[in-house]
Amino acid sequence: MKLQSWTPRIYAPLLLGHLGVLLFVGERWILASSYAFVLAILAFTVILCWRRLHLSVNHNTPLWGLLLGALLAQLAAFVLLLVDALHHPQGTLVAFDPTFYFCLGSFWLIAAAAYNPLTPVRRWTTAIDGVLACAIVALFYLMLVRLLAAGQPAQATGRYVMLMFDGMGLFVALFTSLRFVATRRADERRFHFVLAAFAWVDAILPAIHSRFILASESWLPEWLLGWPFVMLGLLLSRRRTVWLRGYRPTPRTRQVAASIAPLMLSLALCLLGFAQLGADRPLAMGALILAVAAYGVRTTVLLGYHQAVEDELRSLRRNLHHKSVRDELTGLLNRAGFRQVLRRSWQEAVRARRAFGIAVVDVDNFKSFNDTYGHLAGDDCLSLVAHTLRQEAGMQPGVVAARYGGEEFVILLSDLDIDRAEAVVQRLRLRVEALQVRHINSAHGAVTISAGVAVMAAGTMLASEKLLRAADEALFTAKRGGRNQVRRAAVVAAPPAKA
Ligand code: GH3
Ligand code: MG
Ligand code: MG
Repeated sequence: MKLQSWTPRIYAPLLLGHLGVLLFVGERWILASSYAFVLAILAFTVILCWRRLHLSVNHNTPLWGLLLGALLAQLAAFVLLLVDALHHPQGTLVAFDPTFYFCLGSFWLIAAAAYNPLTPVRRWTTAIDGVLACAIVALFYLMLVRLLAAGQPAQATGRYVMLMFDGMGLFVALFTSLRFVATRRADERRFHFVLAAFAWVDAILPAIHSRFILASESWLPEWLLGWPFVMLGLLLSRRRTVWLRGYRPTPRTRQVAASIAPLMLSLALCLLGFAQLGADRPLAMGALILAVAAYGVRTTVLLGYHQAVEDELRSLRRNLHHKSVRDELTGLLNRAGFRQVLRRSWQEAVRARRAFGIAVVDVDNFKSFNDTYGHLAGDDCLSLVAHTLRQEAGMQPGVVAARYGGEEFVILLSDLDIDRAEAVVQRLRLRVEALQVRHINSAHGAVTISAGVAVMAAGTMLASEKLLRAADEALFTAKRGGRNQVRRAAVVAAPPAKA
């Protein structure tokens, strides 16, 4: 049988037994037997939590471990309450020792919500949050101890203690809820949902319980004490369920929740520090200083981390941009990079009324080169040609070479009239021929290139696409004319429109 289905079957008789005890057992044993039932319920929930811990993925084990710690602390508190009830059947209003374990339970719950050690910086912030949680709970416990030792009338003390525990319960519930909202991964969300739900029920039901206990003679409110653990056990038994499936906080909401949560810890410690200012000044000042210093250190650690992440992102973005505009084989600008430079250079040329030219270059008989020497040799040949084009282009200002695709290259020629542009491209052709890369199926016995050049004369305007097409047509003429040659395009350009 599945755990999911037999868990309610164990809780139901325990809850009914608890109710029966509260209705039918005599005054002498009622409190002790009530605590015994709460303990039985809690013990079963501990077993479920233990089982859940063993089934969880590795990086979540500490989270379930912290929740288990909180349950064990509460278990210890109820054992002490039971022992106390056996000795004082009428029940002490505020049993002293269990409060320590209840406080310890709150500490483990806060620690579970603050725990987030996946990155080194998170380990530091988790440690700082842990110190703050420890200080909050220790100061809270100290205030309780002092309150109980002050010898005030039991009724007044009870009310104070009740309000203090209400405050702590509410704080834990809010803190765990913020952590739930801030969580990103699905498996972590499952845990933080369980934690926050338990924290709320564990804050509300005991608050109702203590109000009824203080106001009436009835023992029935004791029944509420087992319910938070029943609810937690039921949640723990449903391992795969994703609660609030449709709820996805926006990244902005998550960021706000994540940044408010640590502030809450510092504010809570400040609040306790202010409350102690009259009673114990050095302790109060210590708490205030710790609250501010811890928040300061936490912020410094995170700022340093964000600076490093920003630097890394910038360099990644630069690399990514470089990769997106560069051709891998030849290291020249690729087609996308060429388009960017073309747009920029063309606009500049029109604005400055300068000449602007494009040459389309194509390796001759390259298919047969590949067929004869293989594709790897073909790649080497393309790299060599590209290297030569880049070297030659680099010697002339305003000349940029790019790989257009396959064995085709383009050369941008800024501020060169058609004669000078053609001369530059002729030099490129001669340089490639001079490489004397053996090509037995070529009429020249070596790898050669053909090119078509088109130039937009200074003071005229021709759309860059038209210029490119004209250069391509000139290349076609060069191929038909026998290859290994440069041809110029007959381009008619209009004067630029007045700005
Ligand atoms: P033409 O002189 O008329 O330009 O003839 P061609 O053989 O050079 O032209 P064609 O368009 O028929 O063939 C181009 C060849 O270029 C075909 C293709 O396999 C080869 N090629 C394209 N890109 C690469 C590449 O990156 N590496 C290699 N090795 N070959 C490539
Ligand atoms: Mg070719
Ligand atoms: Mg081609």
